[in-house]
Amino acid sequence: MSRQDCRRLIVEDDARSGFDDGVTISNFTNIDRSTTMSQKIPATLIPGDGIGPEIVEATVAVLDALGAPFEWESHAAGLAGVAGHGDPLPAVTLDSVRRTRLALKGPLATPSGGGYRSSNVRLREEFKLYANVRPALTLIPGGRFENIDLVVVRENLEGLYIGHEHYVQIDEDPHAVAMATGINTRAGSRRLLRFAFEQAVATGRRKVTIVHKANIMKALTGIFLETALELYEREYKGRFELDTVIIDACAMKLVLDPWQFDMLVTTNLFGDILSDLVAGLVGGLGMAPGANIGADAAIFEAVHGSAPDIAGKGVANPVALMLAAEMMLRHCRLDDLAVRLRRGLVETLNVDKVRTGDLGGIATTASFAQAVIARIMNC
Ligand code: NAD
Repeated sequence: MSRQDCRRLIVEDDARSGFDDGVTISNFTNIDRSTTMSQKIPATLIPGDGIGPEIVEATVAVLDALGAPFEWESHAAGLAGVAGHGDPLPAVTLDSVRRTRLALKGPLATPSGGGYRSSNVRLREEFKLYANVRPALTLIPGGRFENIDLVVVRENLEGLYIGHEHYVQIDEDPHAVAMATGINTRAGSRRLLRFAFEQAVATGRRKVTIVHKANIMKALTGIFLETALELYEREYKGRFELDTVIIDACAMKLVLDPWQFDMLVTTNLFGDILSDLVAGLVGGLGMAPGANIGADAAIFEAVHGSAPDIAGKGVANPVALMLAAEMMLRHCRLDDLAVRLRRGLVETLNVDKVRTGDLGGIATTASFAQAVIARIMNC
């Protein structure tokens, strides 16, 4: 990438992120969110691959029971996009998100090795979804770790995810050498860090931990660390505590004593790995939701993938996607519905003790959804 290309990347990001001093969490996405229950909210629904259609159906049924005012436009992506339109990210799906600027998405499968580039990564790039917010919260007491309340905020557009990779052939071996380029920019780091710091303030987080590997990748992750320290010193000092930790030590500390952390803020690849790790602290991937937030759109999803090993069996845990739907309700300022959804989930899991197999229960995806709906109807 030339110096000119880099400059263009930074300028574009600065212009699109809409950063002015004083920006708050509520105006990161330019969606009119002063919604009332009587207004319909157009939203794109992407059922996705593998267990996606099963958990999306369950989640939509629960949202319907709540009376959530979403007006769904259902469109394919991933393997379903290839099957229906010959494209993992069909134009009609992109057009819908462009229009609604709001989506609930099932997981999208990406072939490892060869094949096409991840539709998730392309969606994030297309809509500049620069922040990935992945909370991990204990909903079921009595697990290996009690009272976990953590959030991972991951930079979503840069780093080693940019897809600049190639092989170098030596003699007869076309894959003799593999190379990948990572790019982190000052502007991209600052945009994500400001989002995270604003969210820390807005949600009353006491401590923010910057996770990096600046001892080895001195430039690539050093720029993120350096930008974080500068921004904190200049604008956020005293509003929360700031800490820094190297990724490998962070992984160990999270397993030994996760309660020392509150909000973890990190670059793209580290955030991907850590968000699965923290999901493991609260019962596994079936319990971990995520929100992809940008200036132009917000896309809500589970952290987990398409789980091909259990797809079609009707046994997938829909809690992660239902928690993502709760985040979507809050994003649309439908807090009352979000509270009722959370209460319905907690009571179903802990009072009725209806749980799917990954949580040691025997419920199917559909019977779990019915149990949540029964709870919602009764409160
Ligand atoms: P995965 O998250 O699909 O599955 C990992 C393990 O967790 C599997 O054993 C699976 O059965 C289990 N699991 C996941 N979700 C579950 C649920 N809701 N209920 C019960 N068990 C659940 O990870 P993978 O197998 O590495 O990836 C499969 C595909 O998903 C790949 O093509 C990958 O690219 C894609 N993927 C997509 C996303 C996304 O769309 N955001 C995220 C991660 C992976």
